[in-house]
Amino acid sequence: MSTVSFQNGGPTLRVGKILCLGRNYAEHVKEMKAERPDTPVVFLKPSTALIHSGETVILPPFSHDVHHEVEMVVVIGKGGKNIERHRAYDHVAGYAVGLDMTLRDVQSDAKRRGLPWTVAKGFDTSAPVSEVVEKSAIADPHALALSLKVNGFVRQQGNTGAMLVRVDDLIAYLSGVFTLEEGDLIFTGTPEGVGPVTRGDVLEATLGSSARLRVRVE
Ligand code: MG
Repeated sequence: MSTVSFQNGGPTLRVGKILCLGRNYAEHVKEMKAERPDTPVVFLKPSTALIHSGETVILPPFSHDVHHEVEMVVVIGKGGKNIERHRAYDHVAGYAVGLDMTLRDVQSDAKRRGLPWTVAKGFDTSAPVSEVVEKSAIADPHALALSLKVNGFVRQQGNTGAMLVRVDDLIAYLSGVFTLEEGDLIFTGTPEGVGPVTRGDVLEATLGSSARLRVRVE
């Protein structure tokens, strides 16, 4: 069973869906030479992709170009369908920092052939997520520094203020498509600076002053 727990001893939540947003920071859209979408680019990871801080990302043998994408993760505390934008934050339990580990070669091939990204995005260990910081401890989820160090060197640095689709709009949109449930996670997209990882790398991600994640790559 996949779960997330809170930093200060709150409840442990069972994770159902892991919904992810692509192309949600303009500078990342540019570095990928992609087009800025009219509607959100959404994909899913299975709950079995989830790992926690202190655990290990296992590089699958069928990829030779695995990338890190550091992201803010929204943790749903109260489920709902067709949630109105002004009610969206009532459904949030808290925030975490996550890594949307991506098989870039597999994804590029899928893009070229017009096929789904499921293998590239949903493989085992592709979703490291930190402990959850309670919503009440975060004054504004769109004023948080996001950073990723690889072996002590800064590789990605951004701020959630640059997200194109914001948390309230995102919850309103997603809940019109998928019924949201307690424990669902939403990966909200990565800022620029994505790049490859190799065996032995140590990845350290932070969101704001309190969410921290550290995983090793094998
Ligand atoms: Mg991503």
